[in-house]
Amino acid sequence: MRLLRLLNDTVFPPRCPVCEQIVTPPGRGICAACLPRVPFVAEPRCL
Ligand SMILES: [Zn+2]
Repeated sequence: MRLLRLLNDTVFPPRCPVCEQIVTPPGRGICAACLPRVPFVAEPRCL
């Protein structure tokens, strides 16, 4: 439901789990500042 998601993103904007900053653009999960710090999350590798 698109309207519900829009409302949810407005009230609870996606935040970086590392620094708690609002992530822009939304949908990335981690902000650009913290991305280099967590390569294991940003780059899942096949063993
Ligand atoms: Zn961050």
